[in-house]
Amino acid sequence: MFKKNIQYKTPEEIEIMRESALVVSRTLGMLAKEVAPGVLPIDLDKKAEAFIRDQGAEPGFLGLYGFPNTLCISVNEQVVHGIPGKKPLTDGDIISVDCGALKNGFYGDHAYTFEVGEVSPEVKKLCQITKESLYIGIQKAKAGNRIGDIGNAIQRYTQKAGYGVVRELVGHGLGRDMHEEPQVPNYGKKGTGPKILDGMVLAIEPMINMGTKRVKQLNDGWTIITADRKPSAHFEHDVAIVNGKPEILSTFDYVEEALGIKKMSLNTVSV
Ligand code: MG
Ligand code: MG
Repeated sequence: MFKKNIQYKTPEEIEIMRESALVVSRTLGMLAKEVAPGVLPIDLDKKAEAFIRDQGAEPGFLGLYGFPNTLCISVNEQVVHGIPGKKPLTDGDIISVDCGALKNGFYGDHAYTFEVGEVSPEVKKLCQITKESLYIGIQKAKAGNRIGDIGNAIQRYTQKAGYGVVRELVGHGLGRDMHEEPQVPNYGKKGTGPKILDGMVLAIEPMINMGTKRVKQLNDGWTIITADRKPSAHFEHDVAIVNGKPEILSTFDYVEEALGIKKMSLNTVSV
């Protein structure tokens, strides 16, 4: 599944990848206005597909490894890789919407966990801490560090809140392939793993469970759920290493504007 060598990108390729990432960012922003109780995940999927194609891009997940849809929509105890279905969303649900796009030969791939209607304080906190942990991890994606530093920061930040960090699924390099080396776990030891260098583009994506870290796969062959059926949250950004520093190619600005919530960034989050 993973290409063997890390594919370092030129500055020109990173600019192309920024546009691929923004196709996804704009799509998530459009979806932010659509998510509501009573809405069918499959309808969100159809809207996303049309919206991506209107931007001169192709859905990145559709057909990838045989996946049947444009979006992965994972509700409540579903962690990732949920198949958009016909069960209406309910007040109090959370849904991870993961979206990929292919434009000019490069992929964008990122995800946001949306609250449906009014969500319990415990679940709200899970989403908030998971989103914060994404930025905490990205802060470590700088030259001189190693990949393990990213996961270590995410793990420490989320475990402090008592959450379980999924082990079986990880972030990844991103480029002409959806999944490239290096793998980017959300757990690990400081100072381990490949060196972080300019030209790397990483999809960093904490998957954080309210309860146990253990997960299992449903019989559909795709959907990953928590073993204890407690909720799970998932946020993802596409990050390029430029001049030694992390540069986030994707943005949640469209989502945060649509939801009328405060913008989170590398500067607004600290341990
Ligand atoms: Mg993704
Ligand atoms: Mg990904």
